[in-house]
Amino acid sequence: MDWKIGVYICEGCGIGDALDLGRLEKVATGEYKAPVCKRHGGLCRDEGVALIKSDIDSGAVDAAIVAACSPRQMTPRFDFNGALVERVSLREGVVWSHNPETLESDLEEEDAEENVNMLAEDMLRVALVRVQKTQAPNPYLCQPAKRVLVIGGGVTGLSAALDVARAGYEAVLVEKSAELGGWARRFKRNEAPLPPFDRVREPDVNALIEQVKATGTIKAYTSCEVKQVAGQPGEYKVELSDGQTLDIGAVVVAAGWKPFDTAKYADKYALGANPNVITSIEFEERLAKGGKILRADGQPAAAVAFVTNVETKEGDMGPHRGNVADIVALKQAHYLKTLNGEITPYLFHDHVKASGLYEELFRAVQKDGLVLVRGAVTSLAEGSERPIALAGEDILLGAEVEMEVDLVVLSVGMAPTTLDEEVLHLKYRQGPELPALSHGYPNSHFVCFPYETRRTGVYACGAVREPMNLARAAEDAAGAAMKAIGAIELISQGKASLPRVGDLIVPDFSLQRCTQCKRCTEECPFGAIDEDAKGTPQYNPTRCRRCGTCMGACPERIINFPNYSIDMIGSMIKAIHVPDEFEEKPRVLGFVCENDAYPALDMAAQNRLSHSAYIRMLPIRCLGSINLVWIADALAKGFDGVMLLGCKHGDDYQCHFIKGSELANTRMEKVSETLNRLMLESARIGFHEINITDYKAVPGMINTFVASLKDLGPNPYKQ
Ligand code: SF4
Ligand code: SF4
Repeated sequence: MDWKIGVYICEGCGIGDALDLGRLEKVATGEYKAPVCKRHGGLCRDEGVALIKSDIDSGAVDAAIVAACSPRQMTPRFDFNGALVERVSLREGVVWSHNPETLESDLEEEDAEENVNMLAEDMLRVALVRVQKTQAPNPYLCQPAKRVLVIGGGVTGLSAALDVARAGYEAVLVEKSAELGGWARRFKRNEAPLPPFDRVREPDVNALIEQVKATGTIKAYTSCEVKQVAGQPGEYKVELSDGQTLDIGAVVVAAGWKPFDTAKYADKYALGANPNVITSIEFEERLAKGGKILRADGQPAAAVAFVTNVETKEGDMGPHRGNVADIVALKQAHYLKTLNGEITPYLFHDHVKASGLYEELFRAVQKDGLVLVRGAVTSLAEGSERPIALAGEDILLGAEVEMEVDLVVLSVGMAPTTLDEEVLHLKYRQGPELPALSHGYPNSHFVCFPYETRRTGVYACGAVREPMNLARAAEDAAGAAMKAIGAIELISQGKASLPRVGDLIVPDFSLQRCTQCKRCTEECPFGAIDEDAKGTPQYNPTRCRRCGTCMGACPERIINFPNYSIDMIGSMIKAIHVPDEFEEKPRVLGFVCENDAYPALDMAAQNRLSHSAYIRMLPIRCLGSINLVWIADALAKGFDGVMLLGCKHGDDYQCHFIKGSELANTRMEKVSETLNRLMLESARIGFHEINITDYKAVPGMINTFVASLKDLGPNPYKQ
């Protein structure tokens, strides 16, 4: 596309003092024939912004290259309503990150000024090529159904449906059992969701059900299940077990929880064998039914031991216990005391987790006379005065404790229903349910994107996401409901959801050259690509998050975005000047993930931590989008090394696109084939996983890598 490019070079923030800006002007107007090139003392100031804006408004410029600070800074200032804006990070990427005095390299010290100017020139060349290769946006536009499917009719689902309705959308609530209300119907008392938090009270699920019925915009179906979810967000066709098919825009999964497998700890506590050992659910049900707590022989229970640190054969229940077990035990002990002040409750725990204002409930139960034992139950035997003689270790006293009790109540862990039950039935090539992470939870990114799953348009909340009590579940439902509505609204504007919110561009597939290798369909982290019977990819734009993993995967290089393509990045690499071997200025190409690694580099620069001026950083969407041809091109051009800087992978991954760095790591094995073919050493490729908080370490990583290339000598392919 022919852009009318304007290059605007900032002299502020020390840029004008550190760099020879005349050289940048020559690159812009001489090498790249940009029709407009201007300097300004502070582009982010009103006059600087006005300078760019007037050129755009007059029609002289439709693509502005702002050579100033990092693209992560001043973003709204340099947003010119529809004009293409490309940023060159002269401040963070050059001036603040390259101080010869703090760099440990003799060679670079000698020629520091020249090296830094060469870096700035290359960064401008790369930006100019990026603009030249950018095509017009190709948004996928549709009219999404403004209706949200909520799976699960417990407190979480009811709350989510209500929140959807309050926002003016329709909700369809599907509950597989005959009644709405879920677990809350089976509870006698509940910890207070509102002040005062030192009380317990009757769950108000019936009021919630009445509110749902009163809205008129929520259709609730009981004894009903989802049979299939076909299509894509905004345009889902959802088939229910009663035979009807609905148009749905987004889905909230509020399918709740089931007790964590009691078989894993039954033997240890004689659960099932000893009728006076029960679970916290059975305890609640006994209260709800008769309001009395009796031991197996029908006598009233006068001493009850609650055990929240239940141990399974493999250890504790881990995340399935969450912080709910302790709050439930406190609630039950408290209610027990209100029934009969003479009862003695004991609590075996390893650390009472009564977070936030539930501390008040904890204090109230302590005042009631709760006896706390910080330690595990070590043995259960027949008692002489009461049915059970219990022994445990009290790690605070450093001693063994013994007592006789009438009942032992074991806390039940909360496993997500979706752990082993199909609730969604997605008609997706990659499988019918939400991909689960460790312990069966389907979150896509714990830290940055709560409620998001690895399926765009499908949001999880409540105990499907993590163990939580009813009060938190109701709040959680609001989060997922808002995400679902947000997704529908973005789709109606042709825009992507997180993390590239607002991106209007979708990848193009040149399928006439597709070999049906299925790499893209298998590797897409979001299940966005189905395939036909022959194996030809069938792309679903609104499932896509624009990560570029498919582009990196495709061996035929036929998947490209109008603003991010194999040709674009390849041309940017070619635009970088690689000095010949006699100049003794090595060149390293850095592929930098824009989610964590790039911000880490910016933070290092803001702390004035220096790294080698021999590296040229190319921000990329995700390491998963790296096509190996770029690495081959770089080595063939004479780059001495290539560095990949991306997110951590594995169970505690932090990759915003789920498995980009993992895929890049796997693909790197193939790079060695390329290196062998070129007779180059594998040490010329460096792969580093960076957390955003590792910013202090990043300059060291770069400098060490660049130094290691000196030992290898120059790339023999230098021209
Ligand atoms: S860009 Fe990412 S989400 Fe979209 S189809 Fe490709 S791999 Fe899937
Ligand atoms: S990766 Fe490329 S060649 Fe393979 S199926 Fe996908 S589009 Fe076709």
